[in-house]
Amino acid sequence: MIDKSHENKLTKIKAEALRLGFSACGFSKAEFLEKEKRYLEYFLENNFHGEMLYLENHFEKRLNPKLLVENSKTVISVLLNYFPKQKIDEVDNFKLSKYAYGIDYHIILKEKLQTLFQFINTEIEPIEGRVFTDSAPVLEKAWALKAGLGWLGKNGLLLTKKGSYFFIGEIICTLNLDTYFEAKLPENKLTNYCGTCTRCLEACPTKAIEKPHIINATKCISYLTIEQKGEIPSIFKGKLENYLYGCDICQDVCPWNKKAIFHAIAEFEPSKQLLTMRKKDWQNLTPSQFSEMFKNSAVKRTKYKGLMRTIHFLEA
Ligand code: SF4
Ligand code: SF4
Repeated sequence: MIDKSHENKLTKIKAEALRLGFSACGFSKAEFLEKEKRYLEYFLENNFHGEMLYLENHFEKRLNPKLLVENSKTVISVLLNYFPKQKIDEVDNFKLSKYAYGIDYHIILKEKLQTLFQFINTEIEPIEGRVFTDSAPVLEKAWALKAGLGWLGKNGLLLTKKGSYFFIGEIICTLNLDTYFEAKLPENKLTNYCGTCTRCLEACPTKAIEKPHIINATKCISYLTIEQKGEIPSIFKGKLENYLYGCDICQDVCPWNKKAIFHAIAEFEPSKQLLTMRKKDWQNLTPSQFSEMFKNSAVKRTKYKGLMRTIHFLEA
């Protein structure tokens, strides 16, 4: 039996999350991620993380939320839709992953999560906790799955009946929802609806999806265009499909993304300048133009040098 007071807390928090513009909100018990430990070990042992050496750090913290927030009891996961209505023109142009069209999502997601955290503190009960937006060693996909917000697609992404174009964020906190977790609501065991589909595996141009759910990041265009620091290995010549930053191929081909609805966040819209960029503009981009254009964008992660390296690789 779920304690009525716990049910009320859940209902109020979910309603506030939706009011803030989140697409979904779910709850999971803050406990050690045993199953994910084996996956993380497998991923690291096979060097699927490549140069992302930060993934080797804080191994225990990634798996144990109590090491991030002392006495934490609950992980609140949220999804924020970023599927754009307006696509950047691909004619005579390079491609950018949709998540990088507008303002860096960390900024927007963090603001909304902090507002939700404040709401819980003032309207529900005083809690201790922290908000996370891909900014600390947190396995955000694992928590969203545990909260029943979606299933794990064969492309390794969290997938929902409204697609996969969602940012994930969390609040790890001391909120007590014990009777809810004990009742093990069916919504916390969402069925995997990939079925026999293998479109993402077939469409991946670099064969980065080694097998269903297992992504070798070192072959993934997202990694090659953003995380890889040196030259892009020549074996990927002609395989980047014109992607300059990130890659959406395994999401675009997913039938569930046909059901995606457009986001309503003005800050995620591409700027006028980004919309008018063509290949020659990218090629002639100066460091100061890069800094100005991407000062609040996720694209700055690759730095000017990285972006020009990729342009050169695509064009040579
Ligand atoms: S993001 Fe692109 S390269 Fe990476 S797994 Fe998906 S399709 Fe392959
Ligand atoms: S393309 Fe098919 S197999 Fe891949 S994630 Fe989507 S539904 Fe699953």
